[in-house]
Amino acid sequence: MIICTLCRRREAFFFRAYSGERLCRRCFCLSIERKVKTAISKYGMFEPDDRIAVAVSGGKDSLSLLHILSKIEKSFPKATLTAVIVDEGIKGYRDEAMKIAKKNCEKSDVGHIIVSFKELYGYALDEIAEMTEDTKLTPCSYCGVLRRRAINTAAKLAGASKVATAHNLDDETQTALLNIIHGDPIRILRVKPMLDPIQPGLVQRVKPLCEVPEREVALYAYVKKIAFQILPCPYSGSALRNDVRGILNRLEEKHPGMKYTIHRSMEKIRSLLEQSKLKTALSDCEKCGEPTVGKICQTCQILEALKRGRT
Ligand code: SF4
Ligand code: ZN
Repeated sequence: MIICTLCRRREAFFFRAYSGERLCRRCFCLSIERKVKTAISKYGMFEPDDRIAVAVSGGKDSLSLLHILSKIEKSFPKATLTAVIVDEGIKGYRDEAMKIAKKNCEKSDVGHIIVSFKELYGYALDEIAEMTEDTKLTPCSYCGVLRRRAINTAAKLAGASKVATAHNLDDETQTALLNIIHGDPIRILRVKPMLDPIQPGLVQRVKPLCEVPEREVALYAYVKKIAFQILPCPYSGSALRNDVRGILNRLEEKHPGMKYTIHRSMEKIRSLLEQSKLKTALSDCEKCGEPTVGKICQTCQILEALKRGRT
């Protein structure tokens, strides 16, 4: 029997190549929770009296995050937790995810708020996908922008002071590489574990899973018997992101710890960019008043384009 490196008592079931540890189930789960707590304190993500909204999709990442945060929250009696669930309107996919999400909220004794694309924007994502079939953009490009706004709207409805999303280490490194590929320094600056505070109209976003590899989040959900949706979204991710994911996974396999190395390198690049004159100040969108980098926010641009396509 191979013994756990940490407790030296129980049988190891997982080999963590980047640290050389062999872990039993219990020590593995504790190590994941520790990684989350470390990220929370390293980036100063929460105050003891924060009203936290967790964006819950029904997938393994967001449900593991809900599980971990509801555990942590118990030690902070003044903090509150609410799940926000966005119904994008994806037939045969989102309905199941929402059921699973709601069940998990009940189990963790966390209240929830649901907002839908149809209610907020007048269109379900299925309708948008149909209307934009002939354009270059994929449904994910629309979904990403509209979903971000919907989460912010729901978080405001919940009276939240922070909104936690379930981006893991893999998501963060993929986004970092994509931003480099697109030569987008502003996004390199803005996409980080904790968004800059005090942007009026935006509930501050934090990513407590940013230092947990995707594979380990999945394993955590499995060991903790968290029921999550397995069915992939019919529109799935963009082709380029999928390629970047493949490259990063191959790199990680050959050079364990590579994702952490990229994550740390991005922190250094970001801190240098922060010292430069690059500005990311937000102003109010001329149409809806929500914060935006340009004059008209991406949500309004999308909704205008959809309206034009219809009329
Ligand atoms: Fe939205 Fe794309 Fe994610 Fe599906 S895969 S939920 S369309 S971003
Ligand atoms: Zn152990």
